[in-house]
Amino acid sequence: MSLGDSTEDEREIEKLYEAVPQLRNIFYIKSKIGEGTFSSVYLAIGRLRSGEDAKFALKHLIPTSHPTRIAAELQCLSVSGGEDNVMGVKYCFRNKDHVVIVMPYLEHECFADILHNLSFEETKEYMFNLLKALRRIHYFGIVHRDVKPSNFLYNRKLKQFALVDFGLAQGTPDTKIELLKVLRTNKQESCSLKPYTLSGNRVHPNVLLVNQPSSKKQSVKQQWSLTNPEDQVKEGLFGASTPRSVFGERNFNVYSAFPNDTSTLKTIKPSKVVDVTNRKLAAKKSVSAKCTNAGVARKPANAFQVNQVCDCYARDQVCNICLARARQVAPRAGTPGFRAPEVLTKCPDQTTAIDIWSAGIIFLSLLSGRYHFFNAGDDMNALAQIMTIRGSKETIQAAKCFGKTVLCSKDIPAKELRTLCEGLRKAVSFKSGEQHEAQKQKAVLQLKIMENQDGWFLPESSNLHQENSTGSNSCSESIPDQMDTEPVNVEGWDRVPEEAYHLLDRLLDMNPATRITAEEALLHPLFKNFS
Ligand code: ADP
Ligand code: MG
Ligand code: ZN
Repeated sequence: MSLGDSTEDEREIEKLYEAVPQLRNIFYIKSKIGEGTFSSVYLAIGRLRSGEDAKFALKHLIPTSHPTRIAAELQCLSVSGGEDNVMGVKYCFRNKDHVVIVMPYLEHECFADILHNLSFEETKEYMFNLLKALRRIHYFGIVHRDVKPSNFLYNRKLKQFALVDFGLAQGTPDTKIELLKVLRTNKQESCSLKPYTLSGNRVHPNVLLVNQPSSKKQSVKQQWSLTNPEDQVKEGLFGASTPRSVFGERNFNVYSAFPNDTSTLKTIKPSKVVDVTNRKLAAKKSVSAKCTNAGVARKPANAFQVNQVCDCYARDQVCNICLARARQVAPRAGTPGFRAPEVLTKCPDQTTAIDIWSAGIIFLSLLSGRYHFFNAGDDMNALAQIMTIRGSKETIQAAKCFGKTVLCSKDIPAKELRTLCEGLRKAVSFKSGEQHEAQKQKAVLQLKIMENQDGWFLPESSNLHQENSTGSNSCSESIPDQMDTEPVNVEGWDRVPEEAYHLLDRLLDMNPATRITAEEALLHPLFKNFS
């Protein structure tokens, strides 16, 4: 993981010590290992009471995170975590508006680095373990909402897996996670998840101990050499079984940077789509809009200027302009390339099936050797890309089932999954530099999503098409190209059984109501040799 230079990291580590001074006595924070829009994650060494040193991951949440949101993330980890490939939590520290979640550290591979040297057997194992994690969280009524390789840690040597990052999680109607219920009922909070600004109601320095389920709790507490233990710990104690407000004295009113964003789906979506091809060209001309990776991700969304031109199309990194843009439209939404059709079309009833779709996208990457498989910068492009694989008729049909009308400018046939994956995989292993036909394909396709009407194809000369010719409403379908130079593991890939593609097809069922569940998927014939 190449993050900022080491001195920059050192500065940030020092700032973290200053923000949460309790950490200084307990941890030696070694390095920064991850940075997202809403958190920074550090590797730290802590001394156990036994005298042994242990590695921890310290997740420092941005101070603007909503307190209920933070508490819900913690509760997901503490209630569902620690078993079946779901990351657990050891402690949580808080000082004022700074919160640090302490987890056991799991050293892990970067998905893109190992993608091409996994045998087919290992690929199956990976999927089995991912589905196991999903079965567990879905049992608790947790919809993760951001299932993707960087949130599913895999240690090849230890054969360990861990689903992390409940920062976007939501509850099912019958969720067992109390704070997800709170997020559900507090509609204002749950639908927004907008940057939270403190309104003067500062809280006291505190340490929170998160209860581990079962008897582990006691041993963890005893092992741990907190310098100033019991009383301080108890003050902030909250457990999964006794849900009470962790930040009780805080004002829960949500500050919204976007007062007009009511997220309703009443009207026909206006031309939200951008012509990706045009965007790329425009980006080339723009001198000011460079994709830099330096901390700009934390700028508030309103720092985004409309006249800036994106620079990241067809690159493996999202530029800061797009980061800002994404939050402006849908704050804290998952990654477009992993989002299910019902999410992309903003279907209000989203279930655990959306995580299954994301798992399907990961499986698609594994089978095809392409990552990211879909690299759309926004929802409409993402939907267009899905259509090129699953077919336009199928998409329209499925959307109808969840009350959406998708208008599409042309008929795109569904692709046969084995042919698609084997073709793409071959292109990787031959290293010909020649792009596979599927990658070359770039047809312009226009989409429109409407509420609950009869679906139809737009004639080529429709208004929508006219709009497109003025460059305001079109969407380019594309499959990302990606070549690298590492050796390719071909073990088992010459005889991928039909079951694999059958499961892929079931995970990527366009209709969430019929999509396979994690529990069912674990019983799929593909996994017949797994316990
Ligand atoms: P974010 O919400 O910012 O995406 P995550 O919880 O996904 O935060 O963590 C970001 C990254 O930090 C992960 O992709 C992973 O590389 C690393 N990370 C998170 N938790 C752990 C952990 N327990 N052990 C090792 N690395 C971790
Ligand atoms: Mg993450
Ligand atoms: Zn961009």
